[in-house]
Amino acid sequence: MDRAPGLAMRYPWDEPPKHGTAIEIAEGVLWMRLPLPMKLDHVNVYALDDGDGWTVIDTGFSSKKTRAIWQTLIDGPLAGKPVRRVVATHHHPDHMGNVGWFQSELGAELVTTRTAWLFARMLTLDVQETWPEETLDYYRSAGMAPEVLAKRMAERPFNFADMVYPMPLGFTRIKQGDVFRMGGRDWDVHMGNGHAPEHATFWSRDDNLVITGDQILSSISPNIGVYATEPLADPLADWLETCERLAPLARPEHLALGGHKLPFTGLPIRMRQLIDNHHGALTRLLDHLDTPKAASECFAPLFKRTIGEGEYGLALVEAVAHVNHLYHTGDVIRTRREDGAWLYQRKG
Ligand SMILES: [Zn+2]
Repeated sequence: MDRAPGLAMRYPWDEPPKHGTAIEIAEGVLWMRLPLPMKLDHVNVYALDDGDGWTVIDTGFSSKKTRAIWQTLIDGPLAGKPVRRVVATHHHPDHMGNVGWFQSELGAELVTTRTAWLFARMLTLDVQETWPEETLDYYRSAGMAPEVLAKRMAERPFNFADMVYPMPLGFTRIKQGDVFRMGGRDWDVHMGNGHAPEHATFWSRDDNLVITGDQILSSISPNIGVYATEPLADPLADWLETCERLAPLARPEHLALGGHKLPFTGLPIRMRQLIDNHHGALTRLLDHLDTPKAASECFAPLFKRTIGEGEYGLALVEAVAHVNHLYHTGDVIRTRREDGAWLYQRKG
C-alpha cells in the first residue's frame, strides 16, 4: 500500500459539533449532530445552503428531544431561511426518523430513493404489538442464545414506527446516474447497497465533497445485516459490489461526510480497507467453520472482540450476512439443528 503522506486518511476536525451547533465544513455546508440512545450514540446530519432556503441531509431518530435540537438548529445556525428540502440517504430510522416532521410541519419536500421510501413507509405502517412468528423463526434459525430470545420475547417488539415520525404520502425520487443540485454544487448520485438497499451517495462535481451516508464510514465498518423480511439475502455481496464500483471514483483529497463518526480525507485508502476487512473476515470465518456452527457461534472470527448485550442484535444479523454469503458462494453447506438453528460447515 502506498504510504505517501498525501494518501493517508486524515480527520480535519478532531471534535464534532456540540448538539444544537453547527460547523461550516465548506462554503454553505453545515455539519451537525444528533444524539442516539445506543452504543453508537450519534448521527451526523448536514444542511446545504440553496440561497433562498436549505436542503437538509438526514434527520435523526424521531423524538421530542431530537426535534427540540432541530428547532435550536433552525433558529440558530439555519436562521432566516426555511428548510425547503430534506434528503434521506437511506431508510434506517436514525436517518429517516424526522423526515415526516419536516414534510408535515415545515412543508419540506422529501428527496430519497424509491426503495428507501417504500421500505420506510412500509415499516412505519407495520406496527406489531406481539412478536411475529417469522421473526422468532429467523432468530432461532440464526441460533440466537435462548436467554436472549426469552428476554426479547418478554418485551414488546421493536417497532420502526416508534423511531420514525409518520410519513405522509409523496416524495421526489433520485436514482443512479442522476445529477442533483444542492448547496450551489452539482452532485453525481451513486447508489449503494448492502448496508441498506438503494442507499444514495452524492459526489460533488464542483469541489471535493462526497456525502456518503452510512455506505462509507471512517472508523467503523457499516453494519451489514440480514433480517426476517429476507432471511436468505446476501447483502455482503451487494456491499462488496458497491465498494468495487465506488472505489474508482474516490480521490485522496475527497472530504467524505458520513452518517456517523468524523469527516475524513483519504477515501481511496478507506475503500480498500473496507473491502479487505470483509475478505479477511470471510477467510477467518471459513477456517472457523471446520465443524458445523450456527451464525451466533461465529462472533469471534468476525469481530475479534467480545460482543456485549447492547451489540448482540447487530452482531447476530451481521454474522448471518457472512454465513449467508459463504452459503451463496458455495463454500459452506448448512444443516438444521434440532432447535431450528442452521449450522454451517466448510465444504471439503
Ligand atoms: Zn444506516
